[in-house]
Amino acid sequence: MNSRGYYEGFGGAFIPEILTSTFEELVDAFENARRDPGFWNEYLNVMSTYSCRPTPITFAGNLTRHFRGARIYIKREDLNHTGAHKLNNVIGQGLLVKRMGKSRVIAETGAGQHGVATATMAARFGFRCTIYMGEVDMERQRPNVFWMERLGAEVIPVRDGTRILKDAINEAFRDWVTNMDDTHYVLGTACGPHPFPEMVSYFQSIIGKEAREQILEREGNLPARVYACVGGGSNALGIFSGFLDDPVDLVGVEAGGEGLETGRHASRLASNDGSVGVAQGYKTFFLQDGDGQMKETHSVAAGLDYVGVSPILVSYRERGRIRFEAATDSEVLNAMSLTIAKEGLIPALESAHAFARAFKDASDFSEDDIILINQSGRGDKDIFTIADAFADPGWHAFIRAKGHEYGA
Ligand SMILES: *Cc1c(COP(=O)(O)O)cnc(C)c1O
Repeated sequence: MNSRGYYEGFGGAFIPEILTSTFEELVDAFENARRDPGFWNEYLNVMSTYSCRPTPITFAGNLTRHFRGARIYIKREDLNHTGAHKLNNVIGQGLLVKRMGKSRVIAETGAGQHGVATATMAARFGFRCTIYMGEVDMERQRPNVFWMERLGAEVIPVRDGTRILKDAINEAFRDWVTNMDDTHYVLGTACGPHPFPEMVSYFQSIIGKEAREQILEREGNLPARVYACVGGGSNALGIFSGFLDDPVDLVGVEAGGEGLETGRHASRLASNDGSVGVAQGYKTFFLQDGDGQMKETHSVAAGLDYVGVSPILVSYRERGRIRFEAATDSEVLNAMSLTIAKEGLIPALESAHAFARAFKDASDFSEDDIILINQSGRGDKDIFTIADAFADPGWHAFIRAKGHEYGA
């Protein structure tokens, strides 16, 4: 990264002039914290007492026998408090907010997972909290809205544009411009203007640090390949960061939706549909039309359904260090079923993208090889989508009965 937050020409900070001093303050606070060993220790202390860190790696013996190839290990980010790697980022930013002496946090959320994580952090640290969420997403993700409000956050429906994540991001920036003095914007992934990509991947690097040590301790050997799903790119950068200097293949798996050839996907790097542009404060590959209008994306996994991608991941792709592939919705549902049946693990639909690609490759390896999959989150939240996908009759009866109870 250069001093202006560019990674091989990607990234940067395209922000309204009025936010310049707020961003300078944030860059200073982050650089200061990063140089202070006490800060990382404080972070580790919170993460170990509040969010089950270090999360273990699990040897997937049954899946390994099933594919008769590589020895399959799973890094268990699903065991974090609130069910995913997202807490790694929000707790880190929360500690920075304390250092900056601010009292209010805001965030955007699409599926609601980042909103719940941010509201949780705000409750714990005693910050006021406002979450911006597209009106369409609020209807689709009611359980998460319920929890955010229970946690004390104000959830504001965004009625602009297509009323989804990108509109919520615009609204959060508008709030920040008017409330810079006491407010910090907790961005949810390794995207957006500098220093967010750097800062979010710094906090997520805890995944890779632990995983490298754990696999060496267990196996005395590094994995041949590491798989992670890619929405904005934060869990992938987190685990990959531990292996960047090693002879280890790194594979990011994007949402292939209904198939790359259908155009109904969210694959910015593995498809040929992404192109370079500047939006939402940074320069990266976006799914956009010829006029720079953002396209509608599609994925069975709400957390991967995003038009942009981390500029840091793009720079590693340009250098040939990280490879990108896609998994389709149906491959993902199959991978999820198999993982549940064989290991009793319920990966999030997002994480199941990484599993799907790993399963495709596993039998190409020998039993001396190790592959490592990042289970970014747990799939309990996905019960509505999954029960629908498998057309589960008992579940449909349950939903109908609930509807009756409320007079629907
Ligand atoms: C949000 C989310 C993702 C996608 O975000 P990244 O920044 O790409 O990691 C992936 N998995 C889970 C479980 C999520 O909640």
